[in-house]
Amino acid sequence: MEHDVYIAIGSNLGDKASTIFSAIGAIDELDSTSVVRLSTLIETDPVGPGDQDTYLNAAAHLRTALPARALLDALLSIESDHGRDRANEERWGPRTLDLDILVFADHTIDEDGLTVPHPRLHERLFVLVPLTEIAPDLTIPGRNETPAQLLMKLSPAR
Ligand code: ATP
Ligand code: CA
Ligand code: CA
Ligand code: CA
Repeated sequence: MEHDVYIAIGSNLGDKASTIFSAIGAIDELDSTSVVRLSTLIETDPVGPGDQDTYLNAAAHLRTALPARALLDALLSIESDHGRDRANEERWGPRTLDLDILVFADHTIDEDGLTVPHPRLHERLFVLVPLTEIAPDLTIPGRNETPAQLLMKLSPAR
């Protein structure tokens, strides 16, 4: 059975745009998985420690027959293939590639090393802006709100 999945993509080290496009190609090449849509790439300020370069962020819509855990493992290995070195980085430090599962169909998962929907998606402009572009009406499981509604809560009109 195929699932609709939404992921967040980030890069703030190296040739960020090339890395993101290359990662999207690698995801599309996974078994039983295809990329339906990639958002616009947006430049955002880093949130982590120290003096880091800006991020390029995007969101993508995938369809996959892989279970969530297998998809996560595949995404982590695509991160490594693109120079991500988890052994030598600090939390929220600079990285060549970050791939997070935002939403996996209507599943809610809370396991060791895998929480879905992503527990911080509702508080992040750099996630909600691209996600709103590609899936404005998606209901986020467990929150029962759409990316557009979450975005409005985060940035009240002024
Ligand atoms: P944040 O989760 O705040 O965006 P991060 O992306 O910098 O932080 P990482 O160091 O990339 O965090 O990942 C740490 C671990 O998070 C991964 O090893 C993975 O097992 C786990 N994880 C839990 N839920 C998810 C998810 N929905 N998508 C991706 N990784 C997840
Ligand atoms: Ca494929
Ligand atoms: Ca992340
Ligand atoms: Ca991550």
